[in-house]
Amino acid sequence: MMPVIIAAVLAFAHACLLRILPDHGMTVSYVSFFGVAALAMVSTVRAWYRSGTPRDHRWWLVLGSLGLWAVGMFFAARQSYVYDNANPAPGDSIFFYVLYVLPVLVSISSAPVAARKQWAVAIDLVLASLLGVLFYVRTFSIVSVQGALGMDQAMDVAWMLDFENTCLAVAALLRFLATDRPEDHYFFRAVMSFFVTYALSGFVYNHYIALGGHPEFGTSSWDAVLDLPFLALFVTTAWRQPRRHWHPPVYLVRFVQGASPTFLAMSVLGFGLMIIPDYPSLGISAAIVAVVGIGLWVTVAQVDVVEEEYRLSRNRDELEGLVFIDGLTGLANRRALDERLLREWHRPDQRDPIALLMIDVDFFKEYNDRYGHLAGDDCLRALASTLLSRGLRAGDFIARFGGEEFAVVAPGTRLQDAVALAEDLRSHVEAQALVHPLSPFGVLTVTVGVATLHAHASSSPLDLLNAADRALYRAKQSGRNRVGTMGDLPLDVPSGPPRHTV
Ligand code: GH3
Ligand code: MG
Ligand code: MG
Repeated sequence: MMPVIIAAVLAFAHACLLRILPDHGMTVSYVSFFGVAALAMVSTVRAWYRSGTPRDHRWWLVLGSLGLWAVGMFFAARQSYVYDNANPAPGDSIFFYVLYVLPVLVSISSAPVAARKQWAVAIDLVLASLLGVLFYVRTFSIVSVQGALGMDQAMDVAWMLDFENTCLAVAALLRFLATDRPEDHYFFRAVMSFFVTYALSGFVYNHYIALGGHPEFGTSSWDAVLDLPFLALFVTTAWRQPRRHWHPPVYLVRFVQGASPTFLAMSVLGFGLMIIPDYPSLGISAAIVAVVGIGLWVTVAQVDVVEEEYRLSRNRDELEGLVFIDGLTGLANRRALDERLLREWHRPDQRDPIALLMIDVDFFKEYNDRYGHLAGDDCLRALASTLLSRGLRAGDFIARFGGEEFAVVAPGTRLQDAVALAEDLRSHVEAQALVHPLSPFGVLTVTVGVATLHAHASSSPLDLLNAADRALYRAKQSGRNRVGTMGDLPLDVPSGPPRHTV
């Protein structure tokens, strides 16, 4: 509330002083204008300082605009005091009153953070410089350094300023409405309040005061309306906590953010068209540059979007891959195993049975107890590569089923062959001779449960899993370090000792 009171007191004091000291009105007004501009500049630097980490450097553009405006006011004061010129529109100060919008226009045209790139800054700089030239040409096509020659020219200047201020106020208002980040909200709230107030008070001042019989500062107490934009900036920057009462639709936010980089080019286009009657080649060139600028902006932004799309789709593929990988061993995980089994089950040319091997480490709890969990993890990793290195066929699939259990899917494999494969894996693990003092075998061993099943419409992968699990349980029951199946099947195991098979 305090900043509002201070602002009201300052504006009121300006108006009152003009009434009390009519003989020194001009000085009162100049002091007041420079004073509120200085206050706005200090507020801007403070806002930059308070804008968070990293600091929002767009505030320097606002400072640049205020600085240019102050230069314009300086030239106006020079015309008044040094040259005793009472013309309301001396060219040098008008030029700076037009030019001052440029830095802020660049910030209003700035792309959202994600798209702020060097090439974008380069395009903006070219357009901003061109716009400066157009401002110059346009200003001095209407007035001379001494000022407007007559009422018509002064009116032209007023309309030019109105046009510029209104465009900027609308653009700033749109950016403010379409902010979705607190720092943007804070920044554009200040910029919007400055330009909306400036457009209104500038219009009132130019049309009803300067061109309404008070061309010189200090002759009307309504001069104080020109303080208002600076005081509005002071109030909105002092009021740190941006509270939103209305949240715009996301589509509107994205639309304005997407369109804002074209504001600068649109301004070049507008001013280019405006000067075509007096300076056809410059006007047409400016219009062409503006169109090329927009085209370039959109094209390069599109390249970025496509690039980003590729990157995201690559990331998505990688993530999808990770979903099926076991983080510890790098083997396929349980989810991948389920998918694979399901796929095998529904393969149309599947005539032979599908075999499933459930491999469980023996006495692994004791291994952990003896060596610790981290060593247990290393052991599981080593086991995974041992199993993987053991000549699985191309169509076979190995996964970590969970904990210290692994599973092998061997499609098109009869029970005898599956048992042979299981025995091969078991003996290979035993042959690795990983020391396990708490196991009766003295080394790390595995027990394997084997089951096969024909893929039928009436059966499911779950039946096969259950069968292999029961086979594993049976094998564990009758000791460990062995291969087990369900039921009494005649086994003709080509490799490995039969004593290991139950
Ligand atoms: P059995 O011979 O009957 O299979 O005995 P076991 O000790 O291997 O079986 P049990 O199911 O009692 O214990 C399995 C152990 O495996 C317990 C658990 O701490 C350990 N384990 C499971 N997952 C991991 C893992 O990711 N890392 C480590 N280090 N240990 C694991
Ligand atoms: Mg187990
Ligand atoms: Mg175990």
